[in-house]
Amino acid sequence: MSHSAQVVVIGGGQAGLAAGYHLRRLGLDFVILDAQATPGGAWQHAWHSLHLFSPAAYSSLPGRLMPAQTGQTYPDAQHVVEYLADYEKRYELPIERPVRVLGVHRDGRFLWVETDSGTWHARAVISATGTWWRPFLPAVPGQAAFGGRQLHTVEYHRPADFAGQRVIVVGGGNSGAQIAADLAYDTDLTWVTQRPSRFLADDIDGRVLFDVASARRRALDEGRTDTGGVASLGDIVAVPPVRQARDAGLLKASPMFLRLERDGVVWADGTRAEADAIVWCTGFRPALSHLAPLQLRGRRGHIATEGTRAVDEPRLHLLGYGDWTGPASATLIGVGRPAREAARGIADLLT
Ligand code: FAD
Repeated sequence: MSHSAQVVVIGGGQAGLAAGYHLRRLGLDFVILDAQATPGGAWQHAWHSLHLFSPAAYSSLPGRLMPAQTGQTYPDAQHVVEYLADYEKRYELPIERPVRVLGVHRDGRFLWVETDSGTWHARAVISATGTWWRPFLPAVPGQAAFGGRQLHTVEYHRPADFAGQRVIVVGGGNSGAQIAADLAYDTDLTWVTQRPSRFLADDIDGRVLFDVASARRRALDEGRTDTGGVASLGDIVAVPPVRQARDAGLLKASPMFLRLERDGVVWADGTRAEADAIVWCTGFRPALSHLAPLQLRGRRGHIATEGTRAVDEPRLHLLGYGDWTGPASATLIGVGRPAREAARGIADLLT
C-alpha cells in the first residue's frame, strides 16, 4: 500500500514529538511513524530505578512544561513516559504505531519511506530514531569464552535479577554509575571503568549542564573564546542514589580488565575476579540503518549535517542523536530548538 505526506518523521520518541509540534505550528502535512506499540520511545524500556538527572521543569519539550512528580525532585522514567503520552495526545500528533521504517530511498522529487506496512512518499523526512536501539559493546578478548551472563544497559531491569551474584559493571558514564549504585546493595559488585571515575560536584545536575552547554554554544556562535564544554566538569551526575552509594563507600571503581575467561575476568597485573554476570554499560550508537540506501555516511559513521539538515540530501533532517545534530539535541530540554530549526528548514524548502 502507498501513502503520502509532505513530511514523514521517523521515530515517535521525544525528538519525533518535538518535530511534530513545530511541523504542526507551521501548518505542514506530516505523519510520525514509530516502531513502538505504545508512546514513550526509549523511556518505556529503561531500568526500573532510572531517574532523570534534571528536575521536571528542566526536562520539558516545546509548548508544555513537564509537571513535577509528587515526592521526587528528579522524575522517574515512568513519569517521562506519561508526559510524552500526554504530550502527543494534547497536540493531536498524527502517529502511526507500530510501524517500522525499513529504508529511505530517493526517487525524483520524492523520498520513499519503505515500512513494514506499506510505503510513504514525502517531500522531506526527519529521522529521529534515537540510539537505544543500537547498543554498543566493545570487543574484549575472551568474550565468547565467558560462561556467565552478559548483558547491555538496554537489557538491565532490576537488582533482584542478580541477588547474591558476583556482578561486574563496566562503564564510567551515567548509566554505569547508576546501574552500579543500583546493584551495590544486593550483589557482590565490581565496578570497572576505562579511566578513573569523575563525579560532578554534588550541586551540579542537568540544569547546570544545560546552562554550561548553552553558554558555550552562544560563545562559539558569537565568535568568542570557547568556554569549554561540560566534559571538563566530570562524567557522572551525582544523582541521589549514586551519591548515597558513593558516600557509603560502595562505588569504588577498578580499572578496566584485560580479558574475560570462562569464570570471570583478568587484569593486566594477573589479578582475577570470578563473576556470574557482566553488565556492559558501554554506550550507544545512532540507529541509522534505515538511511543506508541514501549512502550518506561519512568517515566517523556520522552523516554530515549543517544544523539538522543532511549536507548531501537537503530533504533529510536528523534530530536527537547527539551534538552533531544540534546542541543538546539528545536531551528532553535541548531537542526543542533543533526541532524548530528542522521544521522551519523544511517549510522553506517546500515553498
Ligand atoms: P528514543 O526515545 O529512542 O525514540 C526513538 C523512537 O524511534 C523509538 O520509539 C523507536 O522505537 C523509534 N524507532 C527507531 N527506529 C525506528 C525505525 N526504523 N522505524 C520506526 N521507528 C523507529 N535526557 C535527558 O534530557 N535527561 C535525562 O535525565 C536523560 N537520561 C538518560 C539516561 C539514559 C540511560 C539514556 C540512554 C539517555 C538519557 N537521556 C536523558 C537522553 C535522551 O533524552 C534519551 O536517550 C531519549 O530517549 C532520546 O529520545 P529520542 O526521541 O531521540 O529517541
